[in-house]
Amino acid sequence: MNPKYDYAGKVALVTGASAGIGLATAKAYAEAGASVVLADIDTASVERAAADLVAAGHTAIGVTCDVSDENQAASLVAKADETYGALDMAFNNAGIAGPSGKLTDETAEEFDAVNGVNLRGVWACMKHEIIQMEKQGGGAIVNCSSLGGLVGQAGRAAYHGTKHGVIGLTKSAGVEYVSKGIQINAVCPGVIETPMLGDLMKRSPEAMEQVQRDQPIGRLGQPEEIAAAVLWLSSPAASFVAGAYLAVDGGFVAH
Ligand code: NAP
Repeated sequence: MNPKYDYAGKVALVTGASAGIGLATAKAYAEAGASVVLADIDTASVERAAADLVAAGHTAIGVTCDVSDENQAASLVAKADETYGALDMAFNNAGIAGPSGKLTDETAEEFDAVNGVNLRGVWACMKHEIIQMEKQGGGAIVNCSSLGGLVGQAGRAAYHGTKHGVIGLTKSAGVEYVSKGIQINAVCPGVIETPMLGDLMKRSPEAMEQVQRDQPIGRLGQPEEIAAAVLWLSSPAASFVAGAYLAVDGGFVAH
C-alpha cells in the first residue's frame, strides 16, 4: 500500500511496537529499508515482533521500555544510538485506552495511569529523541494522537484529555525545533482494528457501536493505513510540515 520510500541506512524507532498500529508501522519502516528499534512494555512480545522482522530479512531489535518512565525512554534512545549509530525517525505510538465511563467515576489513579503513558510517555520519548537528533543535526518525529485529540466523547474524558495534550506538545515542539532540522508532527487515527479497539468494545460497547455507526467511510481503518501516514510524515516529502496534526480517520472528524 505504501508509496516507495527509501529508508536504507536510516534508523527508525517505534514505541508500542508489539501490536496494532505500532507493529504495522515498524514493519512498514523495515520494508522501506530502515533499521528498526521496536519498543514495548512486554518483553516477550517485543522480542517476538523483532524476531519476525529479522526472519523476514529486515534489520531490527526489540527493546523493553515502559514509556511512562523517563529513564527507560532515555535508555531506549541510547540503545538505538549504541546499536545502529543514529536515530533518524521516531513514532511515539504507545498508548492505553484508560477508563471508560462517567468522568465523576474516574479515579485520580486511573487518570494518572492513562496520562503517564499517553502524554508523559510521548513527552519523555520525544525529549530524548530530540536530544539525540539535535546532536545529529536533524530527524523526524511523529506522535500518536487520536480522533480523541480532536473531538470530545462522553465517557472517554481522560483518554481524550491526554490525546488533546499530545497535539499541544506536538505543536509547541514542532515550532521549537523546525529551524533545527527536526520535523515534529502528529497523526490522529480514527477507529482502527487493533487489540486496543477490541478492549474498548468490551468495556464501552454502546459508545463504540455509536462510533462505528458514525464512520462516513462505512468501515473501520486498518493499522497499515496509519503506518502509511507516519511514513509520509517521516519523509523528506513532508519537509515543510511542522507542528501539524493529520486526521487519518475515514472522514470521522470532518463530518
Ligand atoms: P494496541 O493494539 O493496544 O497496541 C499498543 C501497544 O503499546 C501494545 O503492544 C501495548 O503493550 C503497548 N504499550 C502499552 N503501554 C505501554 C507502555 N507504558 N510503554 C510501552 N508500550 C506500551 O493499541 P493500538 O490500537 O495499536 O494503538 C496505538 C496508538 O494509537 C495508541 O496511542 C492509541 O491511543 C492510538 N489510537 C488508536 C486507535 C484505535 O482505534 N485503535 C484510535 C486512535 C488512536 P501491552 O499490550 O502489553 O499493554
